[in-house]
Amino acid sequence: MGSHNETSSMMNPLEPEEFRRQAHLVVDFIADYYSNIEKYPVCSQVEPGYLTKSMPKSAPLKPEPIETILQDVQKHIIPGITHWQSPGFFGYFQTNASTGNFLGEMLLTGFNTVGFNWLASPAATELEMIVTEWILDLLQLPKSFSFSSNGGGVIHGSTCESFVCTLIAAREKKLKQYGAERGDLCKLVVYCSDQTHFSLQKACQVVGISPNNVRSIQTKKSANFQLSPDALLTAIESDVRAGLIPLYLCLTLGTTPTTAVDPLLILSEIAQRYHIWTHVDAAYAGSACICPEFRHFLDGVEGATSFSFNPHKWFLTTLDCCCLWVKDQTDLTNALSNDPELLKNKASDTKQVVDYKNWQIALSRRFRAMKLWMVLRSYGVIGLQQVIRKHVKLAQRLEAQLSADSNFEVVVPRNFATVCFRVSPLMALTTGSTNEDDLANHLTRTLLESLNETGLVYMTHAVMEGIYVIRVAIGATLTDDKHVNMLWDMIQDHASGLLAKYAEVTPQLN
Ligand SMILES: *Cc1c(COP(=O)(O)O)cnc(C)c1O
Repeated sequence: MGSHNETSSMMNPLEPEEFRRQAHLVVDFIADYYSNIEKYPVCSQVEPGYLTKSMPKSAPLKPEPIETILQDVQKHIIPGITHWQSPGFFGYFQTNASTGNFLGEMLLTGFNTVGFNWLASPAATELEMIVTEWILDLLQLPKSFSFSSNGGGVIHGSTCESFVCTLIAAREKKLKQYGAERGDLCKLVVYCSDQTHFSLQKACQVVGISPNNVRSIQTKKSANFQLSPDALLTAIESDVRAGLIPLYLCLTLGTTPTTAVDPLLILSEIAQRYHIWTHVDAAYAGSACICPEFRHFLDGVEGATSFSFNPHKWFLTTLDCCCLWVKDQTDLTNALSNDPELLKNKASDTKQVVDYKNWQIALSRRFRAMKLWMVLRSYGVIGLQQVIRKHVKLAQRLEAQLSADSNFEVVVPRNFATVCFRVSPLMALTTGSTNEDDLANHLTRTLLESLNETGLVYMTHAVMEGIYVIRVAIGATLTDDKHVNMLWDMIQDHASGLLAKYAEVTPQLN
């Protein structure tokens, strides 16, 4: 009896009415956060270690009420948040949240399934197949990437994960094809450009490709930082002559520094000649291709072996969500399957179902399809296209304003909604400075720092061919005309202040 009483007096961490009450409080908290978000400095201004000072040294012994916890979130956590959902956030590439996504994330967390195979939650697997087919259709990707052929889509947590999985698939296929030993691993070569996302290097390291065998081919400003077919061919031929084995080519649709687009068709044709796996990484810009006017950027994707894009950047979807499609699903499953007794079941035995654990590294997986499905249903294709077009239009206008002002140079033509600019090196020329790029770099870096210090906006930088640029990635869900107008006013103000100050300390400028 004593033990019965003890059990019934214990807390129930999933008591429905208490869940309802507390969850409502949190929803209210988040709604208030979004209402007030512009009051916070976009990039957190705390010092390293700030939080340790205000937090207890050990975990609480007794339960604490949600009200107290939320007060602490407001007081201690929010100051240490960089507000990626702020309309003044123009850094890196955005990860744009939405109500539809948020509700989907609530549902999937509510169910908290672990859909490693079909049986572990048939809806999770089947919905993932359905949404990846829907998006395949939206992007007008060739049918060869579809489940209706030998292909199919999967939702990974990140592009990094898709890099690793496709590299492993390519590696296993190639070693088998050569009847090669593990010792031949050191002969495998990966090709990319110096604009390819830096995480490809780490992925190569993870799968055992020697860093010496990653050909990061140099790109040029004069060619808008696209990977040159001639340079690729030269690199491949020289490796083949040296007895190495070309394995994998990573092409980018929308590079991270400047959103350059590699010429997919001609590059993938070269890769095919040498039986190289071609992956197209469209992490950021893939979203734009749901608009007919941007679809041409995907031309040539039919030559790829795999294709990925991150709905968690520009598709109203929160972290983590990366869609990957392959033309031959057995490439992934041959390399990544396991078949432990613990998970044996009739459905898997029939081979009539997809067991997504064999398409990824980890066993356990979140029901990510739920949030993507919610986004697609909540906004529809039309709503998603509107968001893309709004951001592109804002970027177009900013680009035009910068181009028309002699204080600035737009360093590369804008393809999507990211603008890369610097303080014009002509300003340096008028000072008689011998290295105008050095001076432009210095002024641009100082301009970026002074803009970010205001806390009203946040941007990040890139360096290509020694040129330092400010990247303005327009794509936060809450960003509107007035925020980009404010940004443009600030850029002009801060730059003229900076140039005037520079003129004072360099009298030869007269
Ligand atoms: C952001 C980005 C990545 C990395 O994406 P994760 O999902 O964070 O791994 C890879 N490639 C490109 C082109 C990117 O812009």
